[in-house]
Amino acid sequence: MPAFGNEFETPALPYTDAVKAKTDHLYARVAKFIPEFEWRLHAPYIAAINDLKKEKNAVILAHNYMTPEIFNCVGDFAGDSLQLAKEAAKTDADIIVQAGVHFMAETSKILCPDKTVLIPDPKAGCSLASSITGADVRLLKQKYPGAPVVTYVNTTADVKAETDICCTSSNAVEVVEHAAKEFNSDTVILIPDQYLAKNVAAMTDVKIVTWAGSCEVHERFTADDIRELRAGNPGVIVLAHPECPPDVLAEADFAGSTSGMSNFVREKQPDNVVLITECSMSDNVAVENPDVNFVRPCNLCPHMKRISLPKILASLQTLEHKVEIDPDVIERARKPIDRMLALPLTRQSMYDHRRAPEVAAVETRG
Ligand code: SF4
Repeated sequence: MPAFGNEFETPALPYTDAVKAKTDHLYARVAKFIPEFEWRLHAPYIAAINDLKKEKNAVILAHNYMTPEIFNCVGDFAGDSLQLAKEAAKTDADIIVQAGVHFMAETSKILCPDKTVLIPDPKAGCSLASSITGADVRLLKQKYPGAPVVTYVNTTADVKAETDICCTSSNAVEVVEHAAKEFNSDTVILIPDQYLAKNVAAMTDVKIVTWAGSCEVHERFTADDIRELRAGNPGVIVLAHPECPPDVLAEADFAGSTSGMSNFVREKQPDNVVLITECSMSDNVAVENPDVNFVRPCNLCPHMKRISLPKILASLQTLEHKVEIDPDVIERARKPIDRMLALPLTRQSMYDHRRAPEVAAVETRG
């Protein structure tokens, strides 16, 4: 892959002795994935970004799907979207730069309304987040009165503002069961990812109504892909994300969130593993697990890949693009997140398909 694809907005910065002195220790972390000629393009941006972070009291939140030079070399906190936002809320930084997509930056702003939150490319969207609006959720509530709305964190602030409680792929089963009990309802509206909803439905007696949203990265994997992988790599351990269709999870050895997958690899140290998720995840987990071999079929998220080192540097220099949300929306969107964080959830959701992954309804607009 070229160093920045077509993402150069500024002339390349020079690789000098001073840059080398500031970045050699970081190259040691990623040398396995980034050839030296490519590193010479990245290193000047990394040095400039790390200097500017100190000068402006800024932190960078790096999602698991960021490329290795961002994730390992300029990120201050790494993880999934919610882990990142929680870390952001604890820092005394004045500025948060979200190396991720727009809904993640909104979540950071919701949890840190007094800080300046920047997204280096405001066009970094998400097929799940854009599949549903706050107005859609209001119509769903009219159609299923009394059923609580559980919303995946991969949604906009407007959608969260219409929500009873948020969930992540790590805790979705537990949150759905909690919401059914708390609202005394046999039905829960779990939106917007129809595949996550079906995977949850296989694990609970609660009736699930969902939305026809999907992640354009995970929906492309098929059960045939997994069977072919196993045939070509005997003994490989397959870990799949619960945004994949249920027949993909049924072929996997383990299904869990990005943090669930990282923990699995760290704890079990399999000889050969494949992560059925976005491409950069394997590179980033491999840095911490040098003895594990990663088989690497994967799908790229075009939205995540909009974030590049030159754009992060430009964002810090110009303080563009600020994430702004109406204070009333912030207040309403924060409640379902706080509600989720307050739950005594003690385990990660595990997914398997001993039962059929059937939902009561998949709703669409109109
Ligand atoms: S990987 Fe999927 S869920 Fe994540 S940002 Fe990309 S499209 Fe959205």
